[in-house]
Amino acid sequence: MQIGFDVGGSKIAAGIVNKNKKIIAKRVIPFPQGKPYQEIVSTMVGMAKALAGDVEQTLAEIRSVGVSVPGTIDRQGERVIDAHNLGFHDVPLKEALTLHMPEMEVRIANDANAAALAELHAGAFRGCRTAVLLTLGTGVGGGLILGGKMFNGGLGHGVELGHMCLQFGGPLCTCGNLGCVETLCNAPWLIRQSSQATDAKMVIDAAKEGDVAAKNIFDRYVDQLSSAIVSCTNLLDPEVVALGGGVSLAGEFLFAPLREQVLRKSFFHHPYKIVPATLGNDAGIIGAAMLAINEAEAARI
Ligand SMILES: [Zn+2]
Repeated sequence: MQIGFDVGGSKIAAGIVNKNKKIIAKRVIPFPQGKPYQEIVSTMVGMAKALAGDVEQTLAEIRSVGVSVPGTIDRQGERVIDAHNLGFHDVPLKEALTLHMPEMEVRIANDANAAALAELHAGAFRGCRTAVLLTLGTGVGGGLILGGKMFNGGLGHGVELGHMCLQFGGPLCTCGNLGCVETLCNAPWLIRQSSQATDAKMVIDAAKEGDVAAKNIFDRYVDQLSSAIVSCTNLLDPEVVALGGGVSLAGEFLFAPLREQVLRKSFFHHPYKIVPATLGNDAGIIGAAMLAINEAEAARI
């Protein structure tokens, strides 16, 4: 078994994941916003010890802990370079955790990578060699499975599917470029097009109920998202494309037209398997816990 941490801007969730990739113990606390990272690390160590106690094990017996962080990790997988939601900037997270838990092997990953890894071991990507995960929320994140394991970039920087260009000269992105996938496929895009909606679900629900203006917005969204997915299918010819995040909860109302458009637009006109990500809120914990296994498999390959 392994411990997985899903550290997010609103909460820290941690769990023990057994060899069947199931969470057998879980603890969640609000994220201590504004506290120095050392204090957050102490809290995490306390959670790890409590979880070990929950399953009547010691940390030395569990040995491995993984952490999913919504931000950029250095190429060595040791420091959090930037995680804006956490207020983490150049935080030596691995070193700090190892200092308090020397008996544990600590691994850190970006949250989108962890989510893709979770889907590989326990969700929509089981048995896949090549798969793409896109999370459609406030931002657009993405993770890749290549050769049957999580792919963190050839040089180890990571992959940024949300910052591929979708519209040359398009809207300004948080990264400073214009027309990134994120600017046209995130949830705020849906809200911005509407005169009344305060969240993306309102637009989607109105479109489902037949509101013409909302349906037009939603159709444009599907058009944009399908083009982003086609860039992925043309590049990788993946076995599965899974979508997570709030917008994916639109269900078949989103997936049915998306599949049809990807079939039409993709070079091979293949009916690519496009499905909802299956792990939802547990993806971070499971993916973080699976980092040790991913590393072992990478070494074996
Ligand atoms: Zn961007």
